[in-house]
Amino acid sequence: MMNMIFDRKLPIPMETKEMYPLSPVLAQIIDERAAELRDIISGRSDKLLLLIGPCSADNEDSVMEYIHRLRKVQDQVRDRLFIIPRIYTNKPRTTGDGYMGMLHQPDPGEKADLFKGIVAIRELHMRVLSETGFSCADEMLYPENHKYLDDLLAYVTVGARSVEDQQHRLTASGVGIPVGMKNPTGGSIDVLLNSIAAAQHPHSFIYRGWQAHSPGNPYAHAILRGYVDKHGRMVPNYHYENLLQLCQAYAERELENPAVIVDTNHANSGKQYLEQIRIAREVMESRRASGDICKLVKGLMIESYLEDGAQEVGGGCFGKSITDPCLGWEKSQRLIFELAENCCN
Ligand code: PEP
Ligand code: MN
Repeated sequence: MMNMIFDRKLPIPMETKEMYPLSPVLAQIIDERAAELRDIISGRSDKLLLLIGPCSADNEDSVMEYIHRLRKVQDQVRDRLFIIPRIYTNKPRTTGDGYMGMLHQPDPGEKADLFKGIVAIRELHMRVLSETGFSCADEMLYPENHKYLDDLLAYVTVGARSVEDQQHRLTASGVGIPVGMKNPTGGSIDVLLNSIAAAQHPHSFIYRGWQAHSPGNPYAHAILRGYVDKHGRMVPNYHYENLLQLCQAYAERELENPAVIVDTNHANSGKQYLEQIRIAREVMESRRASGDICKLVKGLMIESYLEDGAQEVGGGCFGKSITDPCLGWEKSQRLIFELAENCCN
């Protein structure tokens, strides 16, 4: 017997898609961006991929403001950089407590309302796409929920706390877009590459009440985000030696499209968000110093928002993170222009 209370039946993904359908014009943008991204992950294009935006999409207005600003910057650096905004609508929490993301709490100060949440996240991704032409990244925290957004997203991540989970790996193998698999919180590169192998292989499994078959996802790849050692200390894994080690570990496996994105925040910065600037520069320097690293490192993930830092839920500062601290807009913009200058030489 389960001890759970079932509050209400929610619309299935097909029903929400009927309520908020994707127009052919927007579908075309999605397809074009998907092709460009595949070219980057596979090495056919040498543009640098930037996955950039707030840790959590906590407020529609400030996220829209941020992404409109990002659009103007993308237009100026389009020859060098391919930008995918982060719209992270569901948040894994270290102890399970705290703000759970827009899916659970469309209003961060209120208790969970998942019906409103399902609508809010689809509307937000859709609004960003139609107003700015950006298809975006989100975390695939709940694999069963991926179908609420699968026609809108450019990219998903499997987070550090989920990457060893079977349902995440199997679902990643059936997702039609590149999946970035984060190194687990313990830092094992072996576990990370096992997860990528699982995501690249075909599987049969139960998905949303169906016996389903996934073809395997050749664009599943690594994200290095630093890790926590057995003493609870955060340890970075973005340095030259870490990147070389990943090149070697990839070379010992038969994986398609070897690729890594370096996450400049989380345990890599020790959540010292300003360090993201220095870390991004160091990764670019490592790319210049080694041809193998240059080939493997396809881009960066940066946590960035309108304002520097973070605040408590209800803190009242427009565009300031209520989860991980982010780099504010001015510094982010400067960093993006600098990366565009430096990424290809
Ligand atoms: C994030 O990208 O905000 C995040 C929660 O990442 P991780 O899974 O690496 O902690
Ligand atoms: Mn974060």
